[in-house]
Amino acid sequence: MFKTAGVRFVRCVFYSISIASLAGLLGACTHSSPPDPGGPKSWVVENVASKTTQELYADWIAPAVYKRSGSKVIGNYTVESGNLIGPDKSIGSLVTVRHANGSLTAMIEEKGKSGLLTINSKGQGDFTPSPTLDFSRPDTVNVGAVTPTDQPESVTEEPYTVDVFIGYSRTAVDAVGGDVIADALAKVESVNLGLRNSLVTNVSLKLVGVQVIERNYPMKGETLRDLPTIFSKGIEISQPDLIQGIFSNHPDDTAGGWGEYRGRKAISHAIGEAFRHEVGHNAGGMHCYADGGAISTYAYGYNNGKTTTIQCGNESPFYSNPLVKDANDLPLGNVLTANMARVWRNNTVRLSSYAPTVIPQAPQNFRATPYSSTAVTFAWDLEPRAVRYQIWRGIVLVEDTESTEITTTNVTAGLQRYYVVAVYFDGTKSPPSNLVWTKPK
Ligand SMILES: [Zn+2]
Repeated sequence: MFKTAGVRFVRCVFYSISIASLAGLLGACTHSSPPDPGGPKSWVVENVASKTTQELYADWIAPAVYKRSGSKVIGNYTVESGNLIGPDKSIGSLVTVRHANGSLTAMIEEKGKSGLLTINSKGQGDFTPSPTLDFSRPDTVNVGAVTPTDQPESVTEEPYTVDVFIGYSRTAVDAVGGDVIADALAKVESVNLGLRNSLVTNVSLKLVGVQVIERNYPMKGETLRDLPTIFSKGIEISQPDLIQGIFSNHPDDTAGGWGEYRGRKAISHAIGEAFRHEVGHNAGGMHCYADGGAISTYAYGYNNGKTTTIQCGNESPFYSNPLVKDANDLPLGNVLTANMARVWRNNTVRLSSYAPTVIPQAPQNFRATPYSSTAVTFAWDLEPRAVRYQIWRGIVLVEDTESTEITTTNVTAGLQRYYVVAVYFDGTKSPPSNLVWTKPK
């Protein structure tokens, strides 16, 4: 049970290095080839698009061995993830997101060399080390019921999808290398890898929306509280279950992350593995059993002396589960005191039910207005969760736009038939809209 009733604001994971020293670490220098891992560096990769993903990260993860366990294509991106097994039997993780243009975003979790590796389409590479965080500090706001309302595990064996929206400040986008969608996909995959590792098969997270705002907010409870207002536009469009905010360092930071315990909102800093930890709080987990605070006796992470799980230490890509063992053959949970896998299974319905299920449908009210002797203006109603739209003339792609209105000269002089389709994060497309016949003035 909670020791305090109602909402409590308590301090969170703290960065062990100062903002000033972090700014120093982010300073860049240029190399013609990837430098040794372990430091903040910049360099250039020649012919980046012709390199395999493995070639781009191989120097950074050695001598650890990568065991890939997941791969999928989402829109223009290929998302892969798996565990990194170190020579000392430590288990870290690698999440890579590769754009079709060759650019790469890779979250590397490896003892002593964790960080974010980014290489853009021009081959410009950067490595930003993860700050060391103390995940034992209380960092939750209590918003859920104080008595267990979990449904029996057997009810939720069918797969559930938890739709996630992630909002970023502009400086956070800069910190993650500029490709905000790649970073958001990587953060979501870091949770899915943890779920797979922990044998939680009935739930996965899916990115449904991203928004970038100009202002960078401090990492504190008020920001967590105000998240729906701060990102109101993106949330309206994407209709997510979970709402996440990513910010860069701010002078008023009180912590490195905050999350609602048994809620839907969390915030964390741009670099590192705080995201999966805060989502674990949303799912219903607290820290280590000794720290207390959870409403179920088993809703904690685990530290077996060699490996710590996501809620309790957060140094390995596992949510606690007594049935799973680490590379030392030690269990990663305890049936009575540390079973986050059970927590996840018991909370899938709640986590996936904050927003109604959105079924992709054709954009409504597609219309055309002749604009000039060579151009036509097309407009249509916003389709929730669409990330862009495509206007088609038969099999000819006329425009690909993020807007719901566009004036284009890519039209033919004669009367022709047009329609629009909505395109979603995962690349799927809606059925075609109503058809309109139009031509320039
Ligand atoms: Zn925490």
